[in-house]
Amino acid sequence: MTRRAITLLGATGSVGASTLDVIARHPDRFTVAALAAYRSDAKLLELCLRFRPPVAALQDVSAAHALQRALAAECLPTRVVAGDDGLTEVATLPEADCVLAAIVGAAGLPATLAAARAGKRILLANKEALVIGGALFMAAAAESGATLLPIDSEHNAVIQCLPASYARNPAHHGVRRIVLTASGGPFHGRPDVDFDHVTPDEACAHPTWSMGRKISVDSATMMNKGLEVIEARWLFGTDASCIDIVVHRQSVVHSLVEYVDGSVLAQMSNPDMRTPIAQALAAPERIEAGVTPLDYARLAALTFEPVDRRRFPCVDLAYAALAADAAAPVALNAANEVAVAAFLRGDARFSDIARACSAVLERRDVAPIVTLDDALAADADARALAAAALRLPRSRAAAVAPRHSTHA
Ligand code: NAD
Ligand code: MG
Repeated sequence: MTRRAITLLGATGSVGASTLDVIARHPDRFTVAALAAYRSDAKLLELCLRFRPPVAALQDVSAAHALQRALAAECLPTRVVAGDDGLTEVATLPEADCVLAAIVGAAGLPATLAAARAGKRILLANKEALVIGGALFMAAAAESGATLLPIDSEHNAVIQCLPASYARNPAHHGVRRIVLTASGGPFHGRPDVDFDHVTPDEACAHPTWSMGRKISVDSATMMNKGLEVIEARWLFGTDASCIDIVVHRQSVVHSLVEYVDGSVLAQMSNPDMRTPIAQALAAPERIEAGVTPLDYARLAALTFEPVDRRRFPCVDLAYAALAADAAAPVALNAANEVAVAAFLRGDARFSDIARACSAVLERRDVAPIVTLDDALAADADARALAAAALRLPRSRAAAVAPRHSTHA
């Protein structure tokens, strides 16, 4: 068996850890071509010592120098690259077959798009990249022959429920509707919770999944599901009218596909990212992922409920952005990233997140998104609008640009 060589973007994060756990279980199938992260040189050193990649990348240049020195002291031959160019270099390494994109936020777009242009097999966790660059990705993949495999659990569930020959044409395959399940986050069914006074730790206390803090807040506002609707539109070639959301508290059914004959196919598993990651890493084969099997006797009930769209307005904001022009999802995502980062720092209230997103969608300019630079410019404009809407000091506004992510 030839081993698949994997570049892992976002190696020090939550998806990065789950991915390396699966890879470590199958040294006969996978090798690590490169590991990349933002600025945590100590954590990346630890991973380099364990996985011995030929190349490592850090976005932050001084952290990259520190890593280089530490690797030399350990006599490890790993080559270190840095900055935007370094991330692009590892995303397009000729020796890597597969790029797992698990950087959080818009910051992941340039490298992931470069991987698409280089014709890689892309395992996509970084949904924000597709939300803001969907058309660019699809065009790049079509031209280069790149494959895009979702590892967001809902979208991975959907591809498992679609025919293997599915080619972004729902009508051709008799698909009536795609239904994404949502856990509802920590505040579903809690009308007593005052969104003006929620703390970051309360918002990040997800009932079923353990994830990075940005996506945990997105789950609490349900913006995560809104972003996933936009992600689904690009991945599956469906209109927004064919994509629905249902709250399913147990996070066991990860999504459903309805066919015109009345059949509904669902994918079930315990909520553990190693299942979709292993599925995408090994497809079309299946490999052991270390995930606890479902215990049917203990699955007392699987419940499905509508989304409370009044309490969680981010869902409708995402549908509205999808129905508008191509710059609208870019603006929505940027505003959300600024507002979530401000909330996590204590500079904004939980309730400000939806408010800032709505204000930015209203105030933004409508501009065509034809190139990566168009997307990055619309992203930067929306960040400035969001900072103004949140009355962030100038220094804080600068700190939210994608090149200066607050993540480790
Ligand atoms: P995380 O915060 O735990 O990790 C983020 C990773 O991105 C880290 O390795 C960090 O170093 C890196 N990073 C951040 N900014 C960077 C930059 N500017 N340049 C280079 N690297 C940078 O996040 P996570 O929970 O692992 O989520 C990663 C992505 O996967 C997000 O887009 C998220 O929406 C998506 N996702 C996560 C889960 C989950 O279970 N955690 C599930 C589905 C989808
Ligand atoms: Mg998801």
